[in-house]
Amino acid sequence: MSKIKYRYIHILIVFYIIAAFTWWAILLYQRTLEIHELQLVLANFVEDMDPEEITKEFLKQKRMIMGEGLVFGLSILVSMILMSKAFLSEINVNRKLNNFLLSVTHELKTPIASLKLILQTLYKKDLEMSKCKDLIETAHEESTRLESLVNNILTVAQMDQSYNYNFEMIRLDNILNERVTRFRTAYSERKIITEINSNVEIKADRESMIKLIDNLIDNAIKYSPSEKPVRIFLQTIANQVILSIADQGPGIEESEKDNILEKFYRIGNEETRKTSGTGLGLFIINEIVNAHKGHLRIKDNHPEGSIFEIEFLKSS
Ligand code: ADP
Repeated sequence: MSKIKYRYIHILIVFYIIAAFTWWAILLYQRTLEIHELQLVLANFVEDMDPEEITKEFLKQKRMIMGEGLVFGLSILVSMILMSKAFLSEINVNRKLNNFLLSVTHELKTPIASLKLILQTLYKKDLEMSKCKDLIETAHEESTRLESLVNNILTVAQMDQSYNYNFEMIRLDNILNERVTRFRTAYSERKIITEINSNVEIKADRESMIKLIDNLIDNAIKYSPSEKPVRIFLQTIANQVILSIADQGPGIEESEKDNILEKFYRIGNEETRKTSGTGLGLFIINEIVNAHKGHLRIKDNHPEGSIFEIEFLKSS
């Protein structure tokens, strides 16, 4: 049976319980009223029976019936809301998981097929040096994407089981310069402009800083047109270290800025989306920033695009 059918059955059962309970409550009230009226008639003939006491007892019972009914009705309503919420969130998680599986399969297949083709071409054909260089560059780009995809899946799996951060004093400027060089090699046609202060030392986990930087640069490249530059800044202001990655892509709507930090979340739907991805990058970035007690801000770039700004506390 489909989940939607289960939901309707659940709603039907809850409505039946509420209707049955209301009916029993009304019946109980009517019987109590009848008994009360009879007792009042009897009180005219029996001396021991005090009409005032009888009315007091009746009012007490009436309050009890109404109070219990209200608590019971509210409990059912709250449990129904909670169950509906759990149900909707399960549907949501399943949908995101399905999207994720589809995109992972697609993301794994595409670079593997392209790498295979490039290798076959290089092996079989006697190509000129410049053509070979182009193909090797494309292979490098594809393998970088493949590597980052596998790394992200592994990181999320580790994060689910509690990720071990190894905090130590690191030179963030050195790591950033090294990662930028790597991206410049992998995406040689892209313009990456940097303004990186030197001697920027923070207490952080080296591996997760690499993941954070790689995911931010990867997104900036992926979501902006190839002719537009990506700008990377690292600066120290007072006791804060600020890393920002700015692109000139489509930008991110205000209403989506929180959503994109969720696991598997991707803007738009599978049919209309042009870029491939898994929706894990920003989830990983946010987890890492939180683990380092930093702040992540998603700002609008002018005239277009977005700026991902991360603030860490500088070590003293
Ligand atoms: P993925 O890129 O694999 O989809 P992310 O978690 O990195 O996963 O990003 C989640 C979503 O946020 C993306 O699907 C995209 O819609 C949006 N996004 C991320 N970075 C940018 C960016 N620099 N510009 C515009 N949209 C972005």
